[in-house]
Amino acid sequence: MTSSVNDFDLYRPSEEHDMLRDAVRSLAEAKIAPYAAEVDEEARFPQEALDALVANDLHAVHVPESYGGSGADALATVIVIEEVSRVCASSSLIPAVNKLGSLPVILSGSEELKKKYLAPLAKGDAMFSYCLSEPDAGSDAAGMKTKAVRDGDFYVLNGVKRWITNAGVSEYYTVMAVTDPEKRSKGISAFVVEKSDPGVSFGAPEKKLGIKGSPTREVYLDNVRVPADRMIGAEGTGFATAMKTLDHTRITIAAQALGIAQGALDYAKGYVQERKQFGKPIGDFQGVQFMLADMAMKLEAARQLTYAAAARSERVALGGGKEDLTFFGAAAKCYASDAAMEITTDAVQLLGGYGYTRDYPLERMMRDAKITQIYEGTNQVQRIVMARNLP
Ligand SMILES: Cc1cc2nc3c(=O)[nH]c(=O)nc-3n(C[C@H](O)[C@H](O)[C@H](O)COP(=O)(O)OP(=O)(O)OC[C@H]3O[C@@H](n4cnc5c(N)ncnc54)[C@H](O)[C@@H]3O)c2cc1C
Repeated sequence: MTSSVNDFDLYRPSEEHDMLRDAVRSLAEAKIAPYAAEVDEEARFPQEALDALVANDLHAVHVPESYGGSGADALATVIVIEEVSRVCASSSLIPAVNKLGSLPVILSGSEELKKKYLAPLAKGDAMFSYCLSEPDAGSDAAGMKTKAVRDGDFYVLNGVKRWITNAGVSEYYTVMAVTDPEKRSKGISAFVVEKSDPGVSFGAPEKKLGIKGSPTREVYLDNVRVPADRMIGAEGTGFATAMKTLDHTRITIAAQALGIAQGALDYAKGYVQERKQFGKPIGDFQGVQFMLADMAMKLEAARQLTYAAAARSERVALGGGKEDLTFFGAAAKCYASDAAMEITTDAVQLLGGYGYTRDYPLERMMRDAKITQIYEGTNQVQRIVMARNLP
């Protein structure tokens, strides 16, 4: 791995990125924030957010222009997810998982698959989910049991995928399945499965601690016949594509963590000016100021690491070498999610007893932050990935 300084090490948001942030922030505050508490309380899909994101072309900004998308770079995608998460983490799973689900097609799919599946995604007619995990294959994803058996011009898929974000809402699913059980990870292939394919069904929504507005369900594949040309890349390359995808999309989970933490910090900053104890605003006490300073410091460190990782993701998307992307993607996700957990916990603390109630948004933000330490690989797994790819 090289550690040379190049343009990407100096990568900073451009004026266009700043304008995008302003636009997404206004939209998120006006059209998504008002429903965030209700979406959490009722554990319902944030349809208002989907409608607002689609109306403003922000639901899948990563889709290249050649397939009808906006062709946003990795940093712009991070900014969209950050700003949506700042008000509603559940809603941020719409742009984030649209990227996660469709990136295998973008990275490894045939031209036909790209044309067929990316255009409806870009238009907002369909969402995309990503099906890697299974009941008995989480951190050890290569231990999956779902099988795809060739039958003439088709593959027949059987198995259970677990924890699938936006399952039931998405039209399209990238499904990893075993085509050669002898070869473990090299015997796994990726397919596009459609919700309407006979034999596809869904489990009941999981009852979760946080991101309650984002449906998480099992996906059942019962003799699902998929045309062979829906395989993404060559047979046996599915696991490699799944891992390459995560190199890029862990950065979107870091973005989600940044947004949640920023929302909590902004709220706490305002609160300490208003809340008076001992005859003055609690924000006048140095003990409180030091907490806010630490929160802002951790958040900014996480943001810089995430943007540096986004620069590396973009370098690869533009055809550059992978080099240190794997390390940076894992480091950004791990660091930002740990920071978000600390920052949201401290934000609850700054509101005292009020922070512990549902009358204020901070307990929701703290619950939502927790998932960023778990999915797309737990933070223990990120440390394994980093240790294997040390700079
Ligand atoms: C809300 C939600 C949404 C999700 N969305 C998706 C999705 O859309 N698509 C998808 O495919 N998956 C999804 N996942 C699955 C998620 O990626 C897995 O839950 C995660 O990878 C962990 O797997 P597991 O739950 O089986 O935990 P396990 O692998 O059983 O891990 C349990 C504990 O053991 C630790 N551990 C395991 N192995 C090691 C090791 N070698 N060294 C040290 N510690 C270890 C883990 O860090 C963890 O703390 C989602 C999960 C949740 C909760």
